[in-house]
Amino acid sequence: MTNDELLRRSLAAIWHPCTQMKQHSPALAAHESWLPLTPIARGEGVWLTDCEGKRYLDAISSWWVNLFGHCHPAINAALRDQLETLEHVLLAGFTHTPAVTLAERLSALTDGALGHCFFASDGASATEIALKMSVHAWRNRGRSEKCEFVCVAGGYHGETVGALAVTDVAIFRAAYAPLIRAAAVAPSPDARQAAAGESAVDVARRAAAGLEAILADQHERIAAFIVEPLIQCANGMAMYDPEYLRLARALCDRYEVHLICDEIAVGYGRTGTFFAHEQAGIRPDLLCLSKGISGGYLPLSVVLSSDAIYAAFWDDSTTRAFLHSHSYTGNALACRAALATLDLFASQNTLAANRQLAQHIAQHLAPLGEHPQVRHLRQRGMIAAFDVVDSDPGFGRRFHREALARGLLLRPIGNTVYVMPPYLITENECALLGQGIGAALRASLQP
Ligand SMILES: *Cc1c(COP(=O)(O)O)cnc(C)c1O
Repeated sequence: MTNDELLRRSLAAIWHPCTQMKQHSPALAAHESWLPLTPIARGEGVWLTDCEGKRYLDAISSWWVNLFGHCHPAINAALRDQLETLEHVLLAGFTHTPAVTLAERLSALTDGALGHCFFASDGASATEIALKMSVHAWRNRGRSEKCEFVCVAGGYHGETVGALAVTDVAIFRAAYAPLIRAAAVAPSPDARQAAAGESAVDVARRAAAGLEAILADQHERIAAFIVEPLIQCANGMAMYDPEYLRLARALCDRYEVHLICDEIAVGYGRTGTFFAHEQAGIRPDLLCLSKGISGGYLPLSVVLSSDAIYAAFWDDSTTRAFLHSHSYTGNALACRAALATLDLFASQNTLAANRQLAQHIAQHLAPLGEHPQVRHLRQRGMIAAFDVVDSDPGFGRRFHREALARGLLLRPIGNTVYVMPPYLITENECALLGQGIGAALRASLQP
């Protein structure tokens, strides 16, 4: 198929996610607001290739899911093997080796603190499972009044109706408000809010005081506090000090509230440690994982729970069981891709290799920090970002277009430009990325 044919048929047949479809219309081609759809025929490593051979460096890991590049030979081989053995079987009343092995290995990665894995297919479902689990655990303990939640300002936990309750993104809340039972919103620890003379730790303590005010007042009704450890990715890669998580853990203990860590985006080595919450020296009561879990191959998510929460459901009565299921829960192919992904962490010594790689990224993005319209150049592990001062709301779209023209897949969030590349990006490709971002920035800023 040619690029043109693929684009024409896609626009006719597919409703693309979170997209104003009119922006893609060829009728707008000459217009400033036009956002071309990008056809992709193949992937290899960090590169995506269209139908006519034009290549794009996937600097955002295809929406933060890809860890070891596209079409990785080891993950491909594991999937081929699994295809010949077992593609899928229901997980209610049945079990299989890939799901069991994956659950054991994930639990071991939490040092056994979170020993019970509940599988689902996408991140938003993991959020919903964690929320339901928390409330039902309290109910089973005779605390049915604990059925509300606290989330963090600017937090993102998915877009299904239940997940939107704890997702503080104005455009979603406004559009779907009548459907949503909104949670209480605690202040964000986003370090960019530091006043003159204030450190990131000061901001974290101030935000934790805001959380404490809510918990002190409402803890009798609150089941859980949900947070994205270290980086609120969808909130423009808002990075914050681990002190916030230590304080939040202590507050949750004091006020008898479950701590849910949503590591759907930040888990799997993105922030430098395998799990982001490790950097605070804490463990949550519930941990949500998805995105990178299958190496970016297949939809899979999991909620890991503590023994205490699991024990709250252990009973003779079905109504006290956790009542939740999805048809593809624990899909064997997805679990096998996840196992092959964990194998790569071990065989490639990924966490150590990424420390070196993170330095290359820092080095090649550093010159951008000199630009007069760039603010808050920041990085934690394999995620780096900066904010662009440009009052024109069209900046992000223009930058995206200019980056694509230079063979880079980058999608700013508002005025935040970020990179979150697959872990096998080379130093040369980091250099290419730094130069390309600089050129796209110059081309997309208003003179
Ligand atoms: C992407 C994301 C989700 C939602 O995952 P989906 O698979 O897109 O439903 C939830 N929480 C965080 C932190 C995310 O980044």
